[in-house]
Amino acid sequence: MTATAADWHAAADTLTFRGEALIDGRRVPAVSGETFASHSPVDGRFLADIAACGAEDVDRAVAAARRAFTDGRWARRAPAERKAVLVRFAELIRAHRDELALTETLDMGKPISDSTSIDVRAVANCFAWYGEAIDKVYDEVAPTPSDSVALVTREPLGVVAAVVPWNFPMLMATWKVAPALATGNSVVLKPAEQSSLSALRLAELALEAGIPEGVFNVVTGAGPEVGRALGLHMDVDGLFFTGSTRVGKIFTEYAGQSNLKRLGLELGGKSPNIILSSYRDIAHAARTSAGSAFFNQGEMCTCPSRLIVERSVHDQVVEVLLEEAKGFQPGDPLDPATRMGALVDDAHAGKVLSYVETAREEGAIIATGGARTRPGAYVAPTVVDGVRNDMRVAREEIFGPVLSVIAVDGLEEAISVANDSPYGLASAVWTDDLTTAHRVSREIRAGLVYVNCYDCDDLTVPFGGFKESGIGRDKSLHALDKFTELKTTWIRLG
Ligand code: NAD
Repeated sequence: MTATAADWHAAADTLTFRGEALIDGRRVPAVSGETFASHSPVDGRFLADIAACGAEDVDRAVAAARRAFTDGRWARRAPAERKAVLVRFAELIRAHRDELALTETLDMGKPISDSTSIDVRAVANCFAWYGEAIDKVYDEVAPTPSDSVALVTREPLGVVAAVVPWNFPMLMATWKVAPALATGNSVVLKPAEQSSLSALRLAELALEAGIPEGVFNVVTGAGPEVGRALGLHMDVDGLFFTGSTRVGKIFTEYAGQSNLKRLGLELGGKSPNIILSSYRDIAHAARTSAGSAFFNQGEMCTCPSRLIVERSVHDQVVEVLLEEAKGFQPGDPLDPATRMGALVDDAHAGKVLSYVETAREEGAIIATGGARTRPGAYVAPTVVDGVRNDMRVAREEIFGPVLSVIAVDGLEEAISVANDSPYGLASAVWTDDLTTAHRVSREIRAGLVYVNCYDCDDLTVPFGGFKESGIGRDKSLHALDKFTELKTTWIRLG
């Protein structure tokens, strides 16, 4: 049976949440006893009191993770055994699809159809994928002289911390937790304070699937408390962060002030999306561009927020964008027909709208949107036209449904505008010319280049950015390198 909006509302009314941290296999309050209230951006309902953890709680979680790592209860299990547990974990996630999807939607406002068909599905697939991969990865024997043997082996880092944002709460955590667990590490995860609930539930399901106590811990609380304590911790071997460039830079300082822990940083973006007049189907390019800019309420690190359009097709593109925006008017996130839900909270909605105001002051044209559609965090899809690349709306990450249109004259200017940004996460070009496609792909300084698409996605490819968009890559087999140390063992023969 297909669930209706009424079914989801009824399910939401019966769902209850627990906000304690999960340390060493048990749900525990913060040592201080302090909590903070979590409310849903969907309708303001109270969800749970979340443990406001601090440095002492981080110490407890790191100590539990270290004990688990040192006694080898997970790290020394055969890869095939870890695989079996991770595959079972993925099955449990699938079995709890509706509960997890509802949790995600209530906690951060995204449409329920996205939570079920994208978030939960991708999370389960990711645990299964790294589980399936881990007993097929071989180490090396080096081509040394014949009087010796040198083994080059990968070992888990040890205690790994993950600090993640709220836009895809479970999925961003999973991109780190799945390869970290597959390679035998113990993990301490800190979810964003706006969206702690699905991470806590995920860690409970991990225990049920057979991941031993202490191997996957979740510590909730504020970034400057819990995130900082993890970043500065002397017994955390690697810290893997997804979030803003501002906070990413702070993590590099924490690492330098503590034990030079390994860092992985997946940061912000201001992704350029170039539509060239030579592309055979301008309307299709514009439709896809709008869909990708407004997907997830625009709360996407890869949001194609700078639409760079050749002037000769500008009017045609804008006309399609305005038409598409109509289909993304914010609706009830629990209605399966809704394509755009609520932003994560009212404060964030206010920040997004302040950028629109600034754009207006700088001389850009608000072609549609630019306002709340109802009280709370519901913001209309917004198209800002007549943008220059030096305006704040084109330079700073807004992280909301705001699409800036920049008209250019020809390919050279398009590439130059695309690269004129401190960020380098994703990018796209729409062209039927093979040479142009290759040229743009080579010249754009970004970790991802889409040609004639913006919505391709697969676990098999690495994900991450150039420049201030980060250091390192999530996803694919390359992620296994992040969570392992290389060891060389020399053996003299005879
Ligand atoms: P944020 O940087 O404000 O917070 C991310 C995490 O860092 C949260 O858990 C937060 O509690 C913690 N934190 C905040 N201040 C801290 C501090 N001083 N010390 C330690 N930890 C601290 O980001 P956000 O608003 O939650 O998420 C939006 C950002 O995430 C955007 O910039 C977006 O582009 C980025 N993002 C990047 C990717 C990627 O893969 N590149 C994916 C998703 C989101």
